[in-house]
Amino acid sequence: KTYLLRDGLRFSRLEAVRSVSFELTPGRTVALVGQSGSGKSTIAKLIAQLETPTSGTLSLDGRPVGRRGRALAAYRDQVQMVFQDPFASLNPFHSVGHHLERPLLLHGKATKQTAREKALALLERVNLSPATVFIDRKPHELSGGQRQRVSIARALAPEPSILVADEPVSMLDVSIRLGVLNLLARLQREENLALLYITHDLATARHFSDEILVMYHGDVVEQGAADDVILDPQAEFTKQLLVAAP
Ligand code: ATP
Ligand code: MG
Repeated sequence: KTYLLRDGLRFSRLEAVRSVSFELTPGRTVALVGQSGSGKSTIAKLIAQLETPTSGTLSLDGRPVGRRGRALAAYRDQVQMVFQDPFASLNPFHSVGHHLERPLLLHGKATKQTAREKALALLERVNLSPATVFIDRKPHELSGGQRQRVSIARALAPEPSILVADEPVSMLDVSIRLGVLNLLARLQREENLALLYITHDLATARHFSDEILVMYHGDVVEQGAADDVILDPQAEFTKQLLVAAP
């Protein structure tokens, strides 16, 4: 299975994303780097179908996803996102267990009888262990890192094949970032996910990804195997990025 995104998105007069074309493949991680405002989150939203492209296509296994109907529903089942701010994606009034049981039930991955047990297993998978300690807590009763682990567990609940992680650690304390990234990388391998990892950090992009895309003002200006992009950058902007953060 492959997932392919081609071309653009226009917000009124602004062309947020233009010449973009890439493939997400199960078992592989693609990193998307680039300066603030260059269109990275817009691509995430296009893939998650939170925005519709003004031109170009999003396809799944060679077939365009479309704007409605079965193909769209099937596609939506496969895509999950992890956002930068774990608070923004968790409901303050709902328990951790509720956050996990809801998608499990919605996507037919559990019944009312098995949902809690499955939620506990998901918490163990993201190293919130013992899970019974965490399952009845509310988001504000967790640390930032623990909240982001819950967001990751929730994204895994529907058993997606594509995971888009938009700056998943940039709001976390520097000391725990690597732990959360290692967790994402392990889950990506174990679940054979197609992972799109959006970041400002070239070092982790290289370490955690097979391929790197560099965006600049709505265009992908460089695209290639992670080591090639870092060791032998072609685009002027990539060279600048490497000088700024070697
Ligand atoms: P950052 O690194 O700061 O997260 P980014 O690369 O993710 O930046 P985007 O969020 O994709 O950047 O934004 C790209 C451009 O599109 C920006 O100029 C932004 O203001 C604009 N934009 C994003 N969403 C919308 C929207 N819904 N309506 C209009 N303009 C938007
Ligand atoms: Mg962004």
